[in-house]
Amino acid sequence: MSSYTKEDIKQLISGSLTWDELKRMMTSAKDSDRFAVYCEVLQEGVDWDERILLPLAEHLFIVEKGDERIVKCDCGHEFGDYRVNWKLNAVVFCRESDEEIAEVWIGPRGGDAPRRTQLREFYCPGCAAQLEVEALPPGYHTVFSFLPDLDTFYADWLGEPLADAGPDWFQDRTYEVFEKWVAEDEKA
Ligand SMILES: [Zn+2]
Repeated sequence: MSSYTKEDIKQLISGSLTWDELKRMMTSAKDSDRFAVYCEVLQEGVDWDERILLPLAEHLFIVEKGDERIVKCDCGHEFGDYRVNWKLNAVVFCRESDEEIAEVWIGPRGGDAPRRTQLREFYCPGCAAQLEVEALPPGYHTVFSFLPDLDTFYADWLGEPLADAGPDWFQDRTYEVFEKWVAEDEKA
């Protein structure tokens, strides 16, 4: 039995637990089912039924959909296979000019720093929520922030292997999309 109630975990998600309480919850070895309760609470917060396997980022989840594992926004918008960087399927706004960066940058900026940095804002095409912001030099590839090894997490950490576990799941498939885009470009 978990020593954390569903109410505790609801508070955790809504950010009303203190840092000490949060640390205690996350490091307590006795709470083997707290992740299940955590997912249950997350599941109650969305209007769709696909099973949440892991929260990925604010608004985003990896969910089980038929025999696929996809990235899905809490609004219901689907980004496709979780092994492909979801940012490729997001709406992107790139801030490059001094004026564009000054709209969001409140600290001092020295020299030509703005010209060496792009702020790339990623938005959900379904609900327009801002999902992530990258600050990178122009030309730098989009960062694949988090590709979790779901099978290891479920089997070794939770002791409940996923039914469709297999060696093909923990792979970055982003390059396959790039290859498809290049092939389409060459055809055009
Ligand atoms: Zn959305």
